Amino acid sequence: MTKSICLAVEGRFLEVTTSFGCSVDCTYCPQYAFRAGYHGKRRLSLEDFNAAISTLPKDVDVVFSGFTEPFLNSDCTNMIESASKEHNIRINTTLVGMHEEDVHRLAKIPNITHFSAHLPDNKGNARIRMTEEYKNVLALALQELRITSTVIMNDDFDQYNNERAGLVKNKYSPTPERHLKGFFGCGKLERPQFVMLPNCDVVLCCMDFGVSTVLGNLLAQSYDNIIASPPYRKIQDNRYKLDGDVLCRRCASATPILEYYAYRAHAKTISLIRSAYHATNDPK
Ligand code: SF4
Ligand code: SF4
Repeated sequence: MTKSICLAVEGRFLEVTTSFGCSVDCTYCPQYAFRAGYHGKRRLSLEDFNAAISTLPKDVDVVFSGFTEPFLNSDCTNMIESASKEHNIRINTTLVGMHEEDVHRLAKIPNITHFSAHLPDNKGNARIRMTEEYKNVLALALQELRITSTVIMNDDFDQYNNERAGLVKNKYSPTPERHLKGFFGCGKLERPQFVMLPNCDVVLCCMDFGVSTVLGNLLAQSYDNIIASPPYRKIQDNRYKLDGDVLCRRCASATPILEYYAYRAHAKTISLIRSAYHATNDPK
């Protein structure tokens, strides 16, 4: 099992959790931790969503993913249409809860830059029911949408890097539990990829299904206030300490600092070489 280094090269995101409790209940997903850790509103309203994203800087992409299947909330397409006026949109979905009308409406949105379809697997890990409506919506989505990636949650799914900071208990779980010591790096601490919950609380990233790191609330604070908040600063500062009690030290994406900067330099070098190659060789 190889570790992939999180460089967060794709930029700043706000992931949106549109509802509480995911009925899909995939085997590799720590819904138990979300149920135990979250006690707010069960459904994100369109009104709260619009208020919460009103302070987001324009370079922050809005990602429909979070800790539940986004289309289980019937306002999901309304939220996507609303956010797309100011932000690029990214979607990770099993298509469960989506209807044919949603597909037609999504097909008209030009700035969905990423659409990842999470499809059923031959092991029954993704518990997606094969209803007639699901099959029709999938067929229509394949015809009408620009699907940029498909993920099949079988044994090839990268379980090492998606074990949610030790919350997923399976054969890949480290024994004893992971606790990284020393300086570390993670791209999500440079270009935040926060997750918003249905009550508009914001947690650190997609690893925090247990809601252990509430950084603030987007109905009460701006995005920039949350970036400057003491809980987020504490986690940031802990990167350069020898030890500490922060979620990152239990996470597979936290990378010893020298290794992290070596990967960053490598990625930057490849990117410069590619740019130079294309500048020289692409037809003018
Ligand atoms: S992986 Fe996605 S669809 Fe599956 S239970 Fe978790 S949130 Fe729901
Ligand atoms: S928990 Fe920390 S190290 Fe892990 S992905 Fe989130 S920000 Fe990065």
